[in-house]
Formats: sequence, structure tokens, C-alpha cells
Amino acid sequence: MENNNNSNNSRRWLRYLPYLLIPIILLAAIWMYTDSSTSDTKSYYEIIELFENDEIQEYTLNLSSGSLVYKLKDDSANLTYQYDVPNVSLFLEDVHEIAKTNGVEYNYDAGSSSSWLTSMLPSIIMTVVLLVLMYYMFRRMNNSIMSETNRTIGFGKARVKGKDDKHKTTFDDVAGADEEKEELSELVEFLKNPKKFQELGARIPKGVLLVGPPGTGKTLLAKAVAGEADVPFFSISGSDFVEMYVGVGASRVRDLFQQAKKESPSIIFIDEIDAVGRHRGAGMGGGHDEREQTLNQMLVEMDGFGVNDGVIVIAATNRPDILDPALLRPGRFDRQVTVGYPDINGRTAILRVHSKGKPLAPDVELEKIAQQTVGFTGADLENLLNEAALLAARRGYRAITMAEIEEAAVKVMVGTEKRSHKISDEDKKLTAYHEAGHAVATFYLPTQDPVRQVSIIPRGMAGGYTMSVPTEDKLYKSKNGMLEELVVLLGGRVAESIVFGDISTGASNDLERASDIARQMVTKYGMSDELGPIVFGSGNDEVFLGRDYSSVRNYSETVAAKIDSVVGEIITNAYNRCTVILKTHMDKLTEVAEYLIKNEKIGEKDFADLMEGKMSAESNKIEGSVNAESPAKPDGSDETANDLGEV
Ligand code: ADP
Ligand code: MG
Ligand code: ZN
Repeated sequence: MENNNNSNNSRRWLRYLPYLLIPIILLAAIWMYTDSSTSDTKSYYEIIELFENDEIQEYTLNLSSGSLVYKLKDDSANLTYQYDVPNVSLFLEDVHEIAKTNGVEYNYDAGSSSSWLTSMLPSIIMTVVLLVLMYYMFRRMNNSIMSETNRTIGFGKARVKGKDDKHKTTFDDVAGADEEKEELSELVEFLKNPKKFQELGARIPKGVLLVGPPGTGKTLLAKAVAGEADVPFFSISGSDFVEMYVGVGASRVRDLFQQAKKESPSIIFIDEIDAVGRHRGAGMGGGHDEREQTLNQMLVEMDGFGVNDGVIVIAATNRPDILDPALLRPGRFDRQVTVGYPDINGRTAILRVHSKGKPLAPDVELEKIAQQTVGFTGADLENLLNEAALLAARRGYRAITMAEIEEAAVKVMVGTEKRSHKISDEDKKLTAYHEAGHAVATFYLPTQDPVRQVSIIPRGMAGGYTMSVPTEDKLYKSKNGMLEELVVLLGGRVAESIVFGDISTGASNDLERASDIARQMVTKYGMSDELGPIVFGSGNDEVFLGRDYSSVRNYSETVAAKIDSVVGEIITNAYNRCTVILKTHMDKLTEVAEYLIKNEKIGEKDFADLMEGKMSAESNKIEGSVNAESPAKPDGSDETANDLGEV
């Protein structure tokens, strides 16, 4: 690839050769044409003969150029002929006396070369035109060759998108997303006044990773941080790097960071970082490809600038799971902000923002639209209002009515992913109790981290999620902790069974994880009393094929059966323990579930308040019950995320 570049360039010149020849040939042709057009085809003797036979009526001779213009006597058309006299003095000698005696009208044009100029004028113009044409052609050729070299050899200037537009984006433009804004406001403070932080020796994160599905406002948030702090915003997309020749991506990264440093405090925004930040060596063929070089350069740059240089790198992705772990190390993107689907209040706020400048009919209730659009992102909602406006315009209305909005909602839902499936109230209720089961179990188990957020807004493959965050770093998990983790994982299934007397497919992911943990406790950590502290199977995690394929069985069938029965026992015990907890706290389970049905989401503080009886499910933010059909994943499967990273 690299070696070919040089010969490629010289061959490219050859390719342009025909274009070079065209003007030269044209020029030659025109010279020949202009030459023949001005000279008479007659010979000198024929001209002299005309004079001798007294056939010339009048003539004009330019004495310097020798251009002879004459008229013939018996010529009804009265044409003018032209002849270039090769030797003026000889000609005069030959004809002057004859002309005088024959009474021919003659005129000698002394010296002025005006006739010569006029005769040359067309060719001069043509030459100039051709030269201009050639100049442009060369320039274009040059340009294309230059850009080629740009790409290959890499005068790689970072293509920095609009540092600042006329309209500054601020946090006011980002509706809902209060938690996200709060997490980012620290960055704003720092960018506004880096000195203050530097003097106190406070360490501000160099890199912040915005994680969330497309259209949830990651780019918007990053811009808003820059707008709030009033600092330059340098943005580049990871996908820009993908189709590049070797070395260019890296040099663009270098350039980008250089520019940002020059104008610090500033923000670098790397959109779609997963396009470059993919796990190294995970690509086809492995080795050092362009992407890897770009990523390495990114890491080098991030390590290269000091903690408080005033440049903050914000990156966005919807695939944090495939990112190279090196990116997430301390001093790089060590801070993650999850940008989730907006809840019902968020959706109302977003609709309010985007309905500005769109006249709404009195029958339009934004809260009602928000209720009906579970699982819509900010981008979806913006799209929805736009579609509605288009519909209203087509119908010749002066304002958007509820009818247009409802039609547009269907259009957007069909147009976007199938995730916006409509599901029934029962499914919503089921998800709510399921998640409440996880959350309530978590609350009553001392080893478990506090619940950070519970949501029944469908997310990716999950119908809902319960997220808990560790309060402190833990190096090891205790046996007790793992057992209680099992109880939490089973919470969803147990709640379903208690409340509905029936169970659903929604817990499959939970059960899978619970089984894994139980099995690992027995075979990997030697935590069961029956089998003792023995490791079964050589579980070598570093093997290429992946964990599951690599464990080799080094025990007998009887032991295998024993392992299975012990694993089963652990799960059953956890299930029973969970049943006791949830039955004892049935009131809390119901309260949390009811709250979720109405609000779709519950945060850390509200959850704690609810559990401690400081708040009742009735005192929630939205009045009235939700009877709108709400979209969600059809299988209502679910996940329990145990730390911030998981989505
Ligand atoms: P992402 O980068 O996460 O894919 P964007 O930031 O590009 O999403 O959002 C796309 C558009 O959706 C934005 O330009 C904005 O108009 C709208 N949008 C998304 N989230 C919000 C929000 N919270 N408030 C207002 N508008 C939003
Ligand atoms: Mg974006
Ligand atoms: Zn679950």
C-alpha cells in the first residue's frame, strides 16, 4: 500500500498528459489557420501580372508589414483582396510606375502596423484564452494531486467542525437530562475558571465518556458544556478516521489536540469514538492498522497534556462494551456519564423545547404526548413535532393539532427501530413489578450497593433495568455478597410469581447470570461446603478462544453431578430467601411498582425516600393514571446492571 504511493503519483502525471497535449495541438492548428487565412493564394508573379494587365482598380500597401490590399477592376462584387508582399522595395520598383501610368488609385501606409495587429488579433485572443484555460487545468490537476498527497502522505490537518456557531448551545437547550447536566456542570465550572481549580490542586477529569443510545442528546450535551463555559468546541467523528490512509488519522489527532491546546480552555469532542476506540487486535487480521495507530495517538495525546491544561476531551458512544480498556484507564476517559432515554417528565420538557416556534392548537397536551411516547429519544421527539408540523402545513392549517401529532407519532415509531413496539398495560405492569422486585431485594440486603436508578423504559434488549452503584471500591467479593447478589438477581422472577401467580420469559437474562455466579462459586472459588476449596476445570481466562471454550474438565462424572446439585441448591436457597424478603415487604414492592408505572423511572433519592416511608407513591410528579399504550420490547426481557458502566 505504502510503497505504491510514489509510483502512483508519477503515473498520475502521465494520466494527465493528453490534457496537456490538447491545448498545444489546438494552438498549432490555430496558428496554421490564421496564417493561411491572411495570405493570398496567388503567387508574386500573378500579382505583378495583374498590375501589368491593368486589372487593379486601387490598392493600399503597408510599407512596414508588406500587407497589400487591393480591388480588381471588373469585379461586380467589389471584393477586397489581400496579399503579403515578401519584399516591399522590390514590389514598389516593379509596380509603382505601372500603377502611376495606369491611373490606379494607390495608397502607401507608412510604418503603422495597425493592419498587422488587427490581422493578428484573433490569434492573440485565442492564445490568451488557451493560456488561461491551461492555467486552470494545471491548477485543477495540481489540486487533485495535492489532495491525493494530503490523504496519502498526510499534511493531515484535523477537519475541525465549526468551532462556534452563531447560536450558542446551553444547558437550557437540553431538556430533561437533569442528572446528566448535573454531572457535567463540574466541567463547566472548571472550564470557566481553571485557575481556581489549579490553585487548589483539584484534579479534573481529562476525559469524559458520554454513553447512551443514538439520539439521546450526547452531542447536544457536549456542545452545551462548551456553550455554558463559553469555550471553543473542537469536534471530530470517529467514523471520519475509518477510511483513511496510514498515518493520516494519527496526524489529524495530533493536529486536533494542538489546536485545542492553543485555545485552551477548550473542549475536544470525539463523536462515535467506538469507530476508532474498538478493542485493539479485535479487527480482522489484527496487526497495526490505521485505526490502531489513530487510537494509540489519541492515548498518547491524552497522556501528554497535564491534568489541568484546560483541555477536556468528551467522547460519545453507544457501544461502551467494545471500547479498548486502555481508553477507560485513569487519566483518560475515567469518567462516564450515562445518557439514558428520557422519562416522562424529560419527554414533556423536550417537547416543550422543540415546540417553540411551532404554533400548537389548544387541544394539544404535551404531557399526554409524553405519556404515549415511552422509549422515544430526544431526536425522535424532535422528529415527531417536525412531522406533525409538515402534516399540518400540508393540510393548510395555521396550527398543529393533536390529530397531526398522533399521526406523526405512528410514522416516527414505524420509521425508527422496532424498539418502539407498542406493548400492553399488562406488560408495563409486569416490568414494573419485576424491577421493583430487584430493587426492593437490593434494599434489604446489607452487602448490596445502594440502588441508583430503576427504570422500566425499554433499553436496547432490556425491558427495564435496576442499577446499583458501589459506594466503595471492592477488590474481592465475599461469599455472602455473592449469595445476596443471587437473591437480587432472582428478585424479578420472585416478584412476578408472588404478584401475578405466574412467571414470564422476562427473567431469562437474570437466571442465566445467577446460574453462572452459583457455578463459579462452586467450581472456581471453592465456596461450597460440600465440595470444599477445590477448583474444578482449568479455567484459564487468558486463552484466545474465550473463557467458556477453554475450561478443560478435569473431574469425574460423579463430581460433575455433585457440582450440579450443589449449584441447584444454592439457587433454590437464594430463591426462598428472596421470597421471604419480598413477601415481608409486599407494601414496599407495590409502592415502588406503582411509582414506576406512573413515572417510569426512579432515582436514588426518591427510591430511598419511598423505602424509608418519607414519601408515598401517590406524591409523584405526574397526576392521573397512565392508560396510554406504551411501547417496549416484546419479550420484555430485562437486565440488572450492577455498576455504572453497564447499560
Ligand atoms: P446523540 O449525539 O446522542 O446521537 P444528538 O445530541 O445528536 O444525539 O441529538 C439529536 C437531536 O435530538 C438534537 O439535535 C436535539 O434536537 C434532539 N435532542 C436530543 N436530546 C434532547 C434533549 N434532551 N433536549 C432537547 N433536544 C434533544
Ligand atoms: Mg451525536
Ligand atoms: Zn430482571
